Amino acid sequence: MKRVGAAITIVLWTLCLCFSPSMSLHAMGKKHTEQKQTLCPDCSKPIDLRYYVDFLNKRIFCCGPDCHDKIAENPEKYVRILQDGGITLEDVGK
Ligand SMILES: [Zn+2]
Repeated sequence: MKRVGAAITIVLWTLCLCFSPSMSLHAMGKKHTEQKQTLCPDCSKPIDLRYYVDFLNKRIFCCGPDCHDKIAENPEKYVRILQDGGITLEDVGK
């Protein structure tokens, strides 16, 4: 009977070791809900860090000069698009 108890303990330990890393990763994933901007809000191409529009202390990055001009005309619209998509915009230092 003692052997069975030991076997069960080993199985339980193995289960704990297998599940705990994935559980903690899951918890970490929940904490990090902030998502950085990686795509241009106008054309969905990857952003080029040289091109951005600052609006109300938020920085909207875009892919290039064409989208930069579009975003500069109506930054509020693009801030909303990005924030609706769960993206946290970078704060512009004062
Ligand atoms: Zn673009």
